[in-house]
Amino acid sequence: MTAYSLRGLRLAVLGGDDRELVYIPVLREKGAEVRTVGLPVEKREGIIPCATIREAVRGADVIVLPMPGVDPAGNIRAKFVKEPLPLRDEDLQEVPAGTLMLVGVARGSLKDLASRRGLRLVEIAERDDVAIYNSIPSAEGALQMAMEGTDFTIHGSRALVLGFGRTGMTLARMLAALGARTTVAARRRADLARIYEMGLTPVTFPELPRVLPHMDLIFNTVPSLILDRRLLLKTNQRAYIIDLASAPGGVDFEVAAELGIKAVLAPGLPGKVAPRTAGEILARVLPEIIAEEVPWPPNGQRPR
Ligand code: NAP
Repeated sequence: MTAYSLRGLRLAVLGGDDRELVYIPVLREKGAEVRTVGLPVEKREGIIPCATIREAVRGADVIVLPMPGVDPAGNIRAKFVKEPLPLRDEDLQEVPAGTLMLVGVARGSLKDLASRRGLRLVEIAERDDVAIYNSIPSAEGALQMAMEGTDFTIHGSRALVLGFGRTGMTLARMLAALGARTTVAARRRADLARIYEMGLTPVTFPELPRVLPHMDLIFNTVPSLILDRRLLLKTNQRAYIIDLASAPGGVDFEVAAELGIKAVLAPGLPGKVAPRTAGEILARVLPEIIAEEVPWPPNGQRPR
């Protein structure tokens, strides 16, 4: 048994996009039988496209949902199907309680469904390793947006990154590498020290009114309202604000529009700008996560 062998496991991959097409063959190589629904995959040994969710989840040890999970109407995100792919209680009737369900981020409706069915729901986007790997395509996507949305170079521009977590740190590093004069706002002393160590300009949040008038590019990674009316009134009216934080983001977009400041919410960048890399990230982490969450039984034999 290799560290991340999936031998003997049956996985149901429901919906998804190009990322699933990248990682499914890897899960198969690790020994899993993969049943899919809503994906353009050819039937072959160990990979079985199914017509319905009910069929795909029958006997599954793990149900894998796409990173964005379900939409507000409860439909699984499924790029390749025209009809909605709803995830309903009745589809999961034959799934035993305690079955592992993996998703990037779960909406309340999905959490409720998992709890009603007694499923073990694990949100993987918040794991440090996944978040750090995903910060690379996210930061590149933000830079791509900045390049496309402005008439100046990133080099020499005055860039502000709000937040110095997994995404903020990667983005700040990339901006600096491109030659942006990079300021980073953080609240922890250790983060402010690290920003300084990286040769960037640290600021605290109370200091923002002083720096905002001078910024050309502003990237928010803080998942709370940061750029409210008071701070937007201080912001350079020609700045371009790119908000990476999960919806509703950290910017008062109505006020930004009122003030004529260009501001956009930029969700799901890895899947949009680098689906192959985002699929490879999942191919790397999913076997580890599944092997951790579904341990081998003491007799070393999985039940099929
Ligand atoms: P993270 O590692 O938790 O970093 C969040 C940062 O925000 C930390 O520096 C944290 O500071 C700071 N912060 C949180 N609440 C704050 C507040 N009230 N005031 C000031 N600072 C605050 O998260 P992450 O992985 O970088 O992700 C950041 C956001 O981006 C999340 O919403 C995530 O879902 C989203 N995201 C979006 C994309 C995309 O494609 N758009 C991709 C990846 C992630 P402390 O450490 O002091 O708490």
